[in-house]
Amino acid sequence: MSGNLATVSYIGATILFILSLGGLSNPESSRRGNLFGMIGMAIAVLATVFGPRVTAAGYPWIIGAMVVGGAVGLYAAKVVKMTQMPELVALMHSLVGLAACLVGYASYIDTSNPLVGAEKSIHEMEIYIGILIGAVTFSGSLIAFGKLSGKIGGSPMLLPGRHWMNLAGLLVVIWFGREFINAHSIADGMTPLVVMTVIALLFGIHMVMAIGGADMPVVVSMLNSYSGWAAAATGFMLSNDLLIVVGALVGSSGAILSYIMCRAMNRNFISVIAGGFGTGGGTPAAKGDAAAPAGEVAPISAAETAELLKEAKSVIIVPGYGMAVAQAQHTVYEITKHLREKGVNIRFGIHPVAGRMPGHMNVLLAEAKVPYDIVMEMDELNDDFPDTDVAMVIGANDIVNPAAQDDPTSPIAGMPVLEVWKAKTSIVMKRSMASGYAGVDNPLFYKENNRMLFGDAKKMLDEVLVALKS
Ligand code: NDP
Repeated sequence: MSGNLATVSYIGATILFILSLGGLSNPESSRRGNLFGMIGMAIAVLATVFGPRVTAAGYPWIIGAMVVGGAVGLYAAKVVKMTQMPELVALMHSLVGLAACLVGYASYIDTSNPLVGAEKSIHEMEIYIGILIGAVTFSGSLIAFGKLSGKIGGSPMLLPGRHWMNLAGLLVVIWFGREFINAHSIADGMTPLVVMTVIALLFGIHMVMAIGGADMPVVVSMLNSYSGWAAAATGFMLSNDLLIVVGALVGSSGAILSYIMCRAMNRNFISVIAGGFGTGGGTPAAKGDAAAPAGEVAPISAAETAELLKEAKSVIIVPGYGMAVAQAQHTVYEITKHLREKGVNIRFGIHPVAGRMPGHMNVLLAEAKVPYDIVMEMDELNDDFPDTDVAMVIGANDIVNPAAQDDPTSPIAGMPVLEVWKAKTSIVMKRSMASGYAGVDNPLFYKENNRMLFGDAKKMLDEVLVALKS
């Protein structure tokens, strides 16, 4: 393939990637967006492999790598459960970081195209910054993987003087950067490069370890952004324009997503990075963090839930992580269809950080074929709860916790939440009284108009559906 054809293919792929991002911004056009992305990526890979910079001697290596990588990818896509998706995404971000580091080192020791003067310095700067971003992304994403999969506890690890440590690390990295650029030989430059890589790896670990469970949504989107910048840095190292553009697209869209996540949690980005927000997940919150709710909970049966739904004129369903665990979305759809046929106004309220990754609930509901026009953002229907007969909370916890509004000492104080308790009756479906990901107690469970439907969400909803139809 000639150089010109490769350039034209790259421009075509870039346009497809932009159209893909545009498509992914709306559930209705997201399938098309995915298709554009897939075609764009196929064109990008073919134009690179058959482009002017790859010689025939490289083909066996490329084909071997693609077969191994493709097989691992196919296997992962087949066996990974929907609830493990966030961990998989974190792991993939770590691979982008690792690739940036490896390309950086390879590019440094490659002497086939010697550069001199300013060009040499700029190339070395690209290598240094590329490896820096790559190493932070690699180790940070591995820790995020550990936290999301529960292999590492959600509590923030707050070392004494941690900000000073980070500052000292930054100064050392800058100093060694100077040493690296001034090095006279590859052997001389290796020491500063390795020292910087180790500091960057430690910084990535430290940064994500210091972030508490409640801030993980921002971390996921932030690492997504970093992986984009790592790819862009790789593009600079390899002088590959497409990689620079695609990396910048991923980096900037990840940054915008981080901003949206911060707003959804009423947090600012700097305090997220500074860390320490929220405790570990999955167990009742440590006492003393916030005022523990008191009172009795009122259980309800599946049959009684069905009775309430039969009498209701308006229903709002709030899905959360538990719906993903139980894989209850298809039964949720059946119930929705049944109630809509009976003329009930039924809608879904989606919190921006519901589940374990951005858009988690929208993906599940789309998979179950729930119509998009009844799936609303939190802001679109939060004012409608007082006019709602039944608010059904399916496996959600933190995103419906009134303590975020009422208790300034709560670890999630200030986070906007879906105000389900303002409905005539709220019903919370979950298996026990355990807390959600942020590890805080939920006073909603004790409210007078709240009922608890204990059990696996799928099993309970199946029973509700049978009772509704009987
Ligand atoms: P939560 O984690 O707060 O609560 C989920 C609830 O689901 C649990 O309390 C659990 O209770 C229940 N549950 C689990 N399995 C089942 C089951 N099989 N059947 C019924 N219920 C079940 O989820 P939310 O969606 O409310 O909130 C999301 C949380 O995750 C927030 O704290 C957010 O910050 C965080 N997060 C979000 C990310 C994102 O990008 N969206 C990324 C990382 C973290 P029980 O065990 O009693 O059943």
